[in-house]
Amino acid sequence: MNPFSNTETAFQLKSNQDLKKAKFLFLCIEKPALTKFGTVFLNTAMKYNFPFAKGIVKDTLFRHFCGGETMQKCIPVIQNMYSKGVSSILDYSVEGKEEEATFDHTVQETVKIINFAADNPAIPFSVFKPTGFGRLGLYEKAGSQQLLSDSEKEEWQRVCNRYYQVCELSHTLGLPIMIDAEESWMQTAVDDLTEELMKKFNQEKCIVWGTLQMYRKGRLDFLKSQRKKAENGGYFIGFKIVRGAYMEKERERAQKMGYPSPIQPDKESTDRQYDEAMNFMLQNIDRISLYSGTHNEASNERLIELIAQYGLKKNHPKIWFGQLYGMSDNISFNLGKLGYNIAKYLPYGPIRNVVPYLTRRAEENTSVAGQTGRELSLLRKEILRRGI
Ligand SMILES: Cc1cc2nc3c(=O)[nH]c(=O)nc-3n(C[C@H](O)[C@H](O)[C@H](O)COP(=O)(O)OP(=O)(O)OC[C@H]3O[C@@H](n4cnc5c(N)ncnc54)[C@H](O)[C@@H]3O)c2cc1C
Repeated sequence: MNPFSNTETAFQLKSNQDLKKAKFLFLCIEKPALTKFGTVFLNTAMKYNFPFAKGIVKDTLFRHFCGGETMQKCIPVIQNMYSKGVSSILDYSVEGKEEEATFDHTVQETVKIINFAADNPAIPFSVFKPTGFGRLGLYEKAGSQQLLSDSEKEEWQRVCNRYYQVCELSHTLGLPIMIDAEESWMQTAVDDLTEELMKKFNQEKCIVWGTLQMYRKGRLDFLKSQRKKAENGGYFIGFKIVRGAYMEKERERAQKMGYPSPIQPDKESTDRQYDEAMNFMLQNIDRISLYSGTHNEASNERLIELIAQYGLKKNHPKIWFGQLYGMSDNISFNLGKLGYNIAKYLPYGPIRNVVPYLTRRAEENTSVAGQTGRELSLLRKEILRRGI
């Protein structure tokens, strides 16, 4: 029987009104033309400070996909979810800014999250995005064999210092920190830096976690090589595995620039690599920690099976399930009820600044086959069950 079909459990924290609003939202998101128009409209309206725009966003996308405008405002959401067995990962979701002052501000915010989370059992990790700490173009250059100019060297050093600062604090407080993955052409620099930090801070347990996008060719081999290095170096490693969020962009760029696409040829290959990675990680659980970030029910079921197959505890401290706030509550809350470790990304930030994140979420829900239909059918089922 599908362990994720219980909608009463899935939506236990949603009021009747919440459910109706969510249904309306997903009905809008289901229409690609409307989502496309809405994305342009909202980004423009926020840019030019249209007075009504903030209110519209707040009552629709923001309300559904974010915990609040500040960390403090997320506390009720965090506590409510935790009371139902679901933990949170605070995700400061300000995107698309490339100024040094913004990077420094993001570091300060990440430091606040780490300090806050270290005292709160409902928040088992902190997280940051590489482009929150440095320019994409700089990562690309630092990861290639190109020489950096003197000013770029200094800029890169500042990026490294930012990573070091948050990872060192995480190590001191004993709170794991996850580094998201973004475009493949910047990932080599992120991987190298992550490996260095793992060596430094993961001597006793896994504090620094990387992310592997399984839609990329060769990531399973990369995982295996990371395990070997960790084994030889006597340190621990941890990875969030995801399928990957930039498929169209990756393929378009590869085609435009005339290099082979780094993306798997088809969905089945991505799925296969995802399953193989989970299997490999559980086989090597003494050395590797796993956070499986997916809304795919089959992948979540597969992990449940693997945990049983390897005779591991449901709440093994090195195995985590994860979804995004506002999506796949049927998976998250049913996993929580069954006693598995589950932590949802909980985005927050000033409404104006999280609009790019929010419109990306809407676009992803439009483009990931079946995602919106699934959310809608679960919402309809629960609305029917409640008779509202
Ligand atoms: C908690 C969490 C954290 C996340 N963090 C990150 C992150 O750091 N970096 C990041 O990039 N993404 C991240 N994501 C997003 C993730 O990568 C996926 O885009 C998203 O979750 C959809 O994949 P799925 O496994 O949930 O669903 P599914 O519907 O099973 O998979 C959809 C995904 O499959 C892949 N795919 C689809 N069609 C094809 C095809 N034809 N060929 C090859 N592959 C295909 C694509 O990756 C697509 O997004 C995160 C997701 C979650 C839940």
